[in-house]
Amino acid sequence: MNTPKYDKLIFEISKSGRKGYTLPPNDVPSKQITDLIPEKHLRRTPANLPEISENEVVRHYVNISTKNYHIDKGFYPLGSCTMKYNPKVNEVTSSMPGFRNAHPHTPEEFSQGALELMYRLADMLNEITGLKATSLQPAAGAQGELTGLLMIRAYHDKQGKPRKKIIVPDSAHGTNPASVTIAGYESVNVKSNDKGTVDLDDLARVIDEDVAGIMLTNPNTLGIFEEQIVQIERMLRDVGALLYMDGANLNALLGITRPGDMGIDCVHINLHKTFSTPHGGGGPGAGPVAVSERLEPFLPAPRVVKDGERYRFNYDFPDSIGKVHTFFGNFGMLVRAYTYICMHGPEGLRGISENAIINANYLLSKLRDNYELKYDAPVMHEFVLSGSRQKAMGVRTMDIAKRLLDYGFHAPTIYFPLIVREALMIEPTETETKETLDAFADALIKINEEIKTKKDVVLNAPQTTPVKRLDDVKAAKEINVCYTE
Ligand SMILES: *Cc1c(COP(=O)(O)O)cnc(C)c1O
Repeated sequence: MNTPKYDKLIFEISKSGRKGYTLPPNDVPSKQITDLIPEKHLRRTPANLPEISENEVVRHYVNISTKNYHIDKGFYPLGSCTMKYNPKVNEVTSSMPGFRNAHPHTPEEFSQGALELMYRLADMLNEITGLKATSLQPAAGAQGELTGLLMIRAYHDKQGKPRKKIIVPDSAHGTNPASVTIAGYESVNVKSNDKGTVDLDDLARVIDEDVAGIMLTNPNTLGIFEEQIVQIERMLRDVGALLYMDGANLNALLGITRPGDMGIDCVHINLHKTFSTPHGGGGPGAGPVAVSERLEPFLPAPRVVKDGERYRFNYDFPDSIGKVHTFFGNFGMLVRAYTYICMHGPEGLRGISENAIINANYLLSKLRDNYELKYDAPVMHEFVLSGSRQKAMGVRTMDIAKRLLDYGFHAPTIYFPLIVREALMIEPTETETKETLDAFADALIKINEEIKTKKDVVLNAPQTTPVKRLDDVKAAKEINVCYTE
């Protein structure tokens, strides 16, 4: 194997004495460092930092950034992740000095604008979800899940009947059973039927008075809408259990149907997916939770309330589960989501979902002859194909995903959900053009041809990326801590 060609590390371009900054001459009396910091706290050897001129620093990072893949560079069909384009106007509004420079300790009378935005955003999310009240605090979908489960626990405790179990269908997102465990509940699995939705017989089998609730992803991770939601609700209500909906991918439902209308008690909404705040690669998220009347008393505090024309934080909720985030959540994300919702308006929001659904179904129709579709039902915002036929010819889904990189596309989510073997989970989102979808479909169709005619190319992909096929586990197994004295 050839040694991969890589850019030099910033330490390798360092030259002793080079500086990336220029300071004006000192015009105040200078002091010795030892006059300011006790000797014992001073380092004995200089910090090991690269010494580089300003333009070298800029070039180094600009060059590295072009090797990265991101939504501003190309199509990113990662299923269940909603890698949609993030309108740049969001960055303009969230950088407005009043928002950007707001400090969480600023007194309420000087942060009325920020409070009003939070109040209005919560109100919009209430309307979008058809629920009673919303907390903006959770910083991610998974944290929204934990928040919701803690509220469900508080609800049953308050009734004087603590319970032990939460039902999680096998088509749920992987964070669901994890959150259930962290919340101290036992996660009880229910199977999917051959249509890819919850098997009601299996559900009936596991429901009893020890069940605190169900966590339903709807549409589920197959991209299929749980049509039996009304029966499911009735079955859980009969034993006094609550319904949690994972609404991370609400871009399938906006303006079409609402969790509240389905009898849901709690839903988390990933603002960083549905409402276009940047994510992937470490951007902060926001996973507000909206709740029904049953759970409202338990919402995290504080909540923004309106008194006449003024907004203030209300901490006075004796049954609240407390805070789940420092201060008030990831405020910058809230400004972006608010901008996005205002920009679209109610009609526009519905248009988002309609287009997300049309794009997914269009792409599926182009690919279904080439890749196996285990659950053949109309899909919402995403769909799951299987690479089993290709696997039988000696090519794994992993290889197909790697080959897509050579065609200039980010790979879809693979090997998830677990109920589809060799899964390829594809979410095109509403922000892509027909030409982009066509090009992506062509690439997957071509790869399927290549498997028949020149399999080696697929097995050795990618060849055109900055680094070629990586050992998936080596980095985790052999951690190489590299530093120089
Ligand atoms: C993304 C996602 C989550 C987790 O959200 P995070 O913000 O990554 O914690 C949960 N459920 C579903 C269905 C998702 O798509």
